[in-house]
Amino acid sequence: MALEIHQFAYGQDNYGVLLHDGDSRETAMIDAGDATAARAALGETGWQLTQIWITHHHGDHTAGLLDIAAETGAATYGPVGVSGVATTLAGGDRFAFAGRQVDVLATPGHTLDMLNFHLETEKLAFTGDTLFAMGCGRLFEGDAAMMWDSLGKLMAFDDDTVIYCSHEYTAANAAFALSVDPDNHALQRRAKAVAELRVAGLPTVPTIMGLERETNPFLRAGDAAIRKGLGMESASDAAVFAEIRRRKDNF
Ligand code: ZN
Ligand code: FE
Repeated sequence: MALEIHQFAYGQDNYGVLLHDGDSRETAMIDAGDATAARAALGETGWQLTQIWITHHHGDHTAGLLDIAAETGAATYGPVGVSGVATTLAGGDRFAFAGRQVDVLATPGHTLDMLNFHLETEKLAFTGDTLFAMGCGRLFEGDAAMMWDSLGKLMAFDDDTVIYCSHEYTAANAAFALSVDPDNHALQRRAKAVAELRVAGLPTVPTIMGLERETNPFLRAGDAAIRKGLGMESASDAAVFAEIRRRKDNF
């Protein structure tokens, strides 16, 4: 049976996710930024939490961890240095959830401790604040070269990989994307679809890898039209990425 997924909103623009296996009745939650929202999501689904996977140390991803872990007894996984994480992970590690393999990727850039989770057999990934729909995380702790390398790990995913990210930033990301990639028809179509979803109060997350490859400027540093627009035809992909990230910071 395929895993069931319940996404819920909290805070300003955060998304939490519950992942559930109906056979084993195991349930994982990705990040624990808000205990109240997590309790509500568990109550709504009736699922019993068995694991918590933390992506990075920021409070909007961790503030509810101690409470929810204590209340549920869930096993806690995440980076070194997060209070309440019992099993610390690093890039290249793997662990099991409901008989599936979860691969741990280190994707530093937004923070140095950032971890992403990939269930290859389920075509499913959780990218925290590294990859957003049409965007990527701000560089708080790492630099552009580091983030470009991290995004490269995610670009190895198959096109039909479903990607859950941690924030609803998509409409603002679309506006920026159009500023550096204005003639991209797939992007124009997607920006329209995103605007319609937001008017209807609907989430734009999850996304899929193939769509990100076509429309996310942060994955498109190698694209000839973008490079031409930036006047960076002969620059390295990493340098083009750094310029796109710099422009987004000032957009
Ligand atoms: Zn963050
Ligand atoms: Fe965040």
